[in-house]
Amino acid sequence: MARPKVVGEVKREVNERAPPSDPCPHDWLSEESTGLYEEKSRSGEAFDLYISTLAESRIRRQATKAAPDRLEVMGLLLGEVRRWRGKAYAVVVNVGTTDLENTQAKVRFDPDAMPGLFKELDGAGFDYIVVGWYHSHPGHTCFLSRIDLRTQRTLFDQPYHSALVVDPVNREVKAFKLLEGGYTEVPFALVSEGGPKLRRLRAKVQG
Ligand SMILES: [Zn+2]
Repeated sequence: MARPKVVGEVKREVNERAPPSDPCPHDWLSEESTGLYEEKSRSGEAFDLYISTLAESRIRRQATKAAPDRLEVMGLLLGEVRRWRGKAYAVVVNVGTTDLENTQAKVRFDPDAMPGLFKELDGAGFDYIVVGWYHSHPGHTCFLSRIDLRTQRTLFDQPYHSALVVDPVNREVKAFKLLEGGYTEVPFALVSEGGPKLRRLRAKVQG
């Protein structure tokens, strides 16, 4: 897959801003992931990743719709990178996706649909950056395959880039980041802030 233009390395100001005040856990977290979530909550530090309930529901709906045929789905995580007490964190406000070439074990954007995706992204109505990607593993749990890891290293190699994997059959979700020589699970939190803000901006754009 060609590197999407939207991943372009534009240097931006990272705003110093306290993390969202209403974090809550995803209800598809495994016992182990719940442990990671609670540990992070207790630490008082910012999570690496916050996902708006709007973005989460779009991902879940897309993955669940394709689940009966066991088809994988994917898309881009769009949002902001901010900083708090010396630590950068990402907030996913919305997602971007397009037509897919998908099977039960593989998924990629349909190359013919990429112009449509870029148009959708340009019309997103807010000033986003790509903070990662998501895809589904219908029925085979959440991890990064060798190919997923290659995708992460090729396209999503910034410290703020995450990979969200969702299994709509086993009702499981995990977020991952690159780690020297491999990858690691990172706890993430759901927040309500993305939706209303996006709708407001869209309303403004549409006049
Ligand atoms: Zn995968």
